[in-house]
Amino acid sequence: MHQSPQKLDESRMPYQLAFPKEAQSEILQSPAVPADERVWVPQMPNVWFRPLCLNVAQGYWVNLLRVRKSGVLSRHRHPAPVHGLVLRGSWYYVEHNWVATEGSYVFEPPGETHTLVVPDDVQEMITLFYVTACMIYVDPWGKQTGYEDVFTKIEMCRKHYEENGLGSAFLDQFIR
Ligand code: FE
Repeated sequence: MHQSPQKLDESRMPYQLAFPKEAQSEILQSPAVPADERVWVPQMPNVWFRPLCLNVAQGYWVNLLRVRKSGVLSRHRHPAPVHGLVLRGSWYYVEHNWVATEGSYVFEPPGETHTLVVPDDVQEMITLFYVTACMIYVDPWGKQTGYEDVFTKIEMCRKHYEENGLGSAFLDQFIR
């Protein structure tokens, strides 16, 4: 009787083919909430961001925002979508009747303009934000007071890492 060939267990076999040559390399940041305080880039007093992915080809950035003060953080308009996941603490927008508590997911659609407030009883909030295009900072009447995009975030990171000894090369791991 014909003997069937030994069947290879392929269940844990790595993918055997080459990745597309134009494909970029993956990013792992572990832990995402860093043990090294120097990774946090100061944004304003008691507000920091921690880069995870700074995408210059598509114009978006993924970062953790950490706030250790209560009150109004900023008022801003989004021309493009934002996704958020609250890791610690809570916050809300004056324009909406909900509070984003720990574990919440938030979608901010294009066209939103909102005013972020951290409640008085929150010592620290950390939220992962995936921000596409830019944030346009405005007054209550929509007059622009500033903006941020992936390139302004990169410049803030570069300056901070150059100053604190991590070096500007530390920034490269986040850029795609
Ligand atoms: Fe927003």
